[in-house]
Amino acid sequence: MPAKRPRLPLHFQILIGIFVGAGIGFTASTIAGGPAFVTNWVKPVGDIFIRLLKFIAVPLIFVSLTKGISDLKDLTSLSRMGLRTIGWYMLTTVFAVLLGLLLVNFFEPGAFVSADTLATLEAGMPASISEKVEIGTRNAAGGPLDFFVRIVPSNIFESLSQNGSLLQVIFFTIFFSICLLLVPEESQSPVKKLIDALNVVLLKMVDVIIMVSPYAVVALMAALFAETSDAGIIKALISYAGVLLFGMAIMLVIYSLLVRSFTGMPVMTFVRGIMPAQLVALSTSSSMATLPVTMDCLEERLEVDNEVVSFVCPVGATINMDATSLMQAIATVFVCQVLGHELAWNDQLVIVLTATLASIGAAGAPSAGIVMLVIVLESVGFPSEKLPLALAMILAVDRPLDMCRTVVNVTGDACVAVLVGASTEVASESN
Ligand code: ASP
Repeated sequence: MPAKRPRLPLHFQILIGIFVGAGIGFTASTIAGGPAFVTNWVKPVGDIFIRLLKFIAVPLIFVSLTKGISDLKDLTSLSRMGLRTIGWYMLTTVFAVLLGLLLVNFFEPGAFVSADTLATLEAGMPASISEKVEIGTRNAAGGPLDFFVRIVPSNIFESLSQNGSLLQVIFFTIFFSICLLLVPEESQSPVKKLIDALNVVLLKMVDVIIMVSPYAVVALMAALFAETSDAGIIKALISYAGVLLFGMAIMLVIYSLLVRSFTGMPVMTFVRGIMPAQLVALSTSSSMATLPVTMDCLEERLEVDNEVVSFVCPVGATINMDATSLMQAIATVFVCQVLGHELAWNDQLVIVLTATLASIGAAGAPSAGIVMLVIVLESVGFPSEKLPLALAMILAVDRPLDMCRTVVNVTGDACVAVLVGASTEVASESN
């Protein structure tokens, strides 16, 4: 019998899918009727994949987080893990904002944008811009404690049915699981058994969805490349894009160094382990849609404990977006440079605070960061009549940058999961 050929590793399969999809999309964009064909017949396959990933996310969070918490030996471990997670998330986010401010003030990308580019942008401003400004302004209107109020669901079934309410689902699940630990054994055990069994089934579903990911990314990338983007505008704003990409590359290096120095895990092991999630993030532009893949990579490929993964990743996909906060800092100063809005040094401090909060509030969805940019711009007194032009400028080059941001956001969550995983292992060994 001929020997069975070894299967290509998943990340290579997805990578090939990305290139094949880009090739199909690019070719279609040069043929009359090609883009319409891709939109009608190819793109739906990618859309179905994103829907599959999204529908599994909420049940997966509920079941695996309940399992994770109810498997813990005591509640002290939960609070220790929670504090470490939030601590790392805050640290990396604030670092990203500071890095962004440093880079944008040093390179001054705004100085490279010509008056012609501004005129082109103003002339071709899409109607959706004013809608984005409006959503951003509405989000900014809440009081200082509004964020905490919104974490508590008023109707859990409503939260479970909305992908944007992940923090509410997490709040309910933690509360539910803690109370599960507090009730007598005979009430605990049937619930735990059901949760364990559901967990196995859901993980199987994730495996099946991941198996089709190489084909799905062909569709997603084909659709992306078939929509021709204005190369002229991208070139005109390349200074901004370049600074942001440079910042994101630094963040990726920082994550690898953190993992290496705190856990001893070789950088290549980390990179290889998390790569399928990074590639899915690149193709979907959504950390929320990528969440099931991120969790699978961490548990199966990097062997991080289920308790840690099921807590750290869902929380991270909602509140930890380092590349989004980096973008907020760079984009804010950049548009102020281009549109001549003076920023005092204390404005830069305000940016540290608001960009951090805005990235926490941003949903893990395509272009979510852009909407939150309105909040940061308003906090430094940016004139509201210039907001549409500012957003048009950032949005013109946002599609490829959003893809890269999502890769960095997902890698940041994975990095913290590995760090927290290693520290809880050490703690339980020393007990
Ligand atoms: N698309 C990003 C994410 O899902 C959010 C953003 O920066 O727009 O992580």
